[in-house]
Amino acid sequence: MVKSNRADKGKERDVACTHCGEPVRVATRAMSIFCPHCKQRLILEDYRIRAYQASRLFATCGDIVVEESGFVSAPIRVANLTVRGRIQGDIDARGVVSVSATGRIRGDVRASRLKVAAGATLDGFFRIAPDAVSLTS
Ligand SMILES: [Zn+2]
Repeated sequence: MVKSNRADKGKERDVACTHCGEPVRVATRAMSIFCPHCKQRLILEDYRIRAYQASRLFATCGDIVVEESGFVSAPIRVANLTVRGRIQGDIDARGVVSVSATGRIRGDVRASRLKVAAGATLDGFFRIAPDAVSLTS
């Protein structure tokens, strides 16, 4: 079990580890922690992407918004994802992937839910189901 900080009692939330998929209880204000299950570092922050960003893996237990001017070239693991710009890479979202008319995704998407506006470009395989994302498998 995760030790709870008295000062933050009632200000905790449950997230799923982006590495092993196990549930982890974290303080709402925490920016990162080490997963008690797999010992890897977990990023908890929300991101707003407005420019080009490439990396080996873009993973957070928070949410990511890719603005119209943003272009992410990386596999993404996230809670909720909003796409107004471009993404090149596979996406694992535990929550909702929401793509606006200006959004473009090239990659496979696994998510619990999907919202797509008319005009969006989706180029990949999609598996949308409540249990679509299971990183432990
Ligand atoms: Zn873990």
